[in-house]
Amino acid sequence: MRGLNTYLGSIGTTIFTVMSALATEHAAINLGQGFPDTDGPADVIQAAADALRDGRNQYPPMPGVAELRQAVAAANQRFYRLDIDWEKEVTVTSGGTEAIAVSLMAVLDPGDEVILIEPLFDPYSPVVRMIGAIPRIVRLTPPHWDLPLSELSDAFGPKTKAIVLNSPMNPCGKVFSAEELGFIADLVRSHDTYAICDEVYEHLVFDGLRHIPLMTLPGMRDRTMRIGSGGKTFSLTGWKIGYITAAEPLTQSVRRAHQNLTFTTAPSLQRAVAVGLAKDDAYFASLANQLQVRRDQIARGLGAVGLTVLPTQGTYFITADFSPLGFNGDDVAFCRHITEQAGVTAIPMSVFYDEPGAPRHYARFAFCKRPDVLDQAINRLRRHFAG
Ligand code: PMP
Repeated sequence: MRGLNTYLGSIGTTIFTVMSALATEHAAINLGQGFPDTDGPADVIQAAADALRDGRNQYPPMPGVAELRQAVAAANQRFYRLDIDWEKEVTVTSGGTEAIAVSLMAVLDPGDEVILIEPLFDPYSPVVRMIGAIPRIVRLTPPHWDLPLSELSDAFGPKTKAIVLNSPMNPCGKVFSAEELGFIADLVRSHDTYAICDEVYEHLVFDGLRHIPLMTLPGMRDRTMRIGSGGKTFSLTGWKIGYITAAEPLTQSVRRAHQNLTFTTAPSLQRAVAVGLAKDDAYFASLANQLQVRRDQIARGLGAVGLTVLPTQGTYFITADFSPLGFNGDDVAFCRHITEQAGVTAIPMSVFYDEPGAPRHYARFAFCKRPDVLDQAINRLRRHFAG
């Protein structure tokens, strides 16, 4: 038979599937994939259940239900003072994942270059390649993950069409500083390019730091697609409700991609996320505070086991250097080893790299889990490495 798609044939099963299967096989505590082990707010879930029974279960409008688009516009105003026209500038997608794909599709032609910052959320470069565009990688280096300014400006060239910016950043927990954002905005403007801002962790920021959307910087309002996710903001990752805020011309192009990819997403869940976005400030503050406590808990625990933990300013994730343990093997071997032998699963950092030369002595642990689960994971690791 004729060969199938060449590019898809070249990529394997995602590491999350591989590690989660291994975790199940060994009854390991899964700190691999980033999903909370408790459900989000009861009133949001109740709103979804009520919405399922209110007789509005047919195709919702292609750009999203009015309630959610209004709520997204209101949240933009409330958190960032962004004035958004909910009818013309907000599109609801099937999760942040679809939002990323349609935002890339909205601006890229085959052969265009897109700047991606490594380590990166794994779908970015496959989606860019499926469009026929070309990733240009700029690498951040641990332990501080500072943006290499001159490398970034060198990466911008005549073929550059866009940059993907993920802040707060998965996997390394970096929150881009105001200075770094200003530098990126200058480049985006001066090279007449676009920014796809993956801000799904916008409300998961610690230590009193503030998430600043690139879209709020001078000249960026019309060049930016800002992506949020109800899954992350309400600890309901299975819901897959994403939203894109972008100026009208960009939104029109985003919607043309969206209408041909998924067209819509479940109306009941959309209406429930609208209820969530209207929750009071205390909800958003406590979401971040509770996660910060868990970050501190796992950081202390992993430190006590003998790993060196890197600072993490946001997201669900913490990076740890396992070389002080004297383990004989790379990060993939380490993550397999702790799953099989200690009963704890993490994700090898090198899977978040697209180009050769990734560091091989870091593992990413998700801490969006119950405190007793984190304690148990730490105890297992401590027992294993003490033995
Ligand atoms: N962007 C980043 C950086 C993520 O980590 C994730 C989820 N792991 C997503 C987007 C996808 O969001 P959603 O689940 O809403 O599709």
